Amino acid sequence: MSAPPLPGYRHIYSGKIRDLYRPEGSDDRLLVVASDRISAYDHVLDTPIPDKGRILTAMSLWWFEQLADLMPNHVVSTDVPAAVTGRAVLVERLEMVPVECIARGYLTGSGLAEYRERGSVCGIPLPDGLQDGSRLPEPLFTPTTKAAMGEHDESVDFAYVVDVVGAELAERVRTLTLEAYARGEAIARERGIILADTKFEFGVRPDGSVVLADEVLTPDSSRFWPRDQWQPGRAQPSFDKQFVRDWLASPESGWDRSSDEPPPPLPDGIVERTRRRYVEAYERLTGDTFAQQVS
Ligand code: ATP
Ligand code: MG
Repeated sequence: MSAPPLPGYRHIYSGKIRDLYRPEGSDDRLLVVASDRISAYDHVLDTPIPDKGRILTAMSLWWFEQLADLMPNHVVSTDVPAAVTGRAVLVERLEMVPVECIARGYLTGSGLAEYRERGSVCGIPLPDGLQDGSRLPEPLFTPTTKAAMGEHDESVDFAYVVDVVGAELAERVRTLTLEAYARGEAIARERGIILADTKFEFGVRPDGSVVLADEVLTPDSSRFWPRDQWQPGRAQPSFDKQFVRDWLASPESGWDRSSDEPPPPLPDGIVERTRRRYVEAYERLTGDTFAQQVS
């Protein structure tokens, strides 16, 4: 998972999916390059998904615009080196708020696990009788820590966020998270996609203002479910990594999730179906065809 050298930019960090570069001679900008890497079950897989970086970059840019009247975002320009056109964005370099700001409108995953154990999500009590995939009475702010690579993010309560960043910033990111989720959920719903939950990351400018950063409302940062197949009481089909997860979990892959072994390479058929899922999510949401996006 090496980051390609880019003349005029210095590579400073690689996350699971994105490579970050500092433009030479500029301290307050960052070039964020989305790779075609895909992760599943907390592993970055050896097999890339062609076009994934471009699809998710275009989708984030589209969402930033849908949210622009609610909150500022980190985007400066899409005028980037030719080698990374379409999958890179020049952004403001921000001091990142050190929690993952998650909003959940539906019950599943780790939220469901906590609910079954304690009747609450992130310490927030919920009514009886909810099932896997149920819509919550109202969307919840359920932050987590930002874990280092290979580790699990841990669910924390609001008091923890206050401890880490102070009451004012904690309130601010909670409000922004729920506003962005509500807008995103309504837009996606109209287009046949249930935005079950999502993770935002915020950063702070030198003047103290809070800015939406990272990627927004992509299938990598969210659970997208096809609305016409939504049926609480079972695991919902998902819009993105379903084929990858199902294949990795099947006997065919020969992979044992609980072992220390890295997952095996993906077969071509799984790669192509996954790529098509990402394209479909992009096209359904934006109403554009993906090919038109490519310059
Ligand atoms: P994952 O998202 O899969 O958990 P990751 O967060 O380690 O992995 P990536 O998403 O691949 O990494 O990389 C993006 C990195 O860039 C993240 O660490 C994110 O917090 C950071 N980042 C995003 N936007 C900005 C910004 N405007 N200023 C500074 N850092 C940013
Ligand atoms: Mg990330």
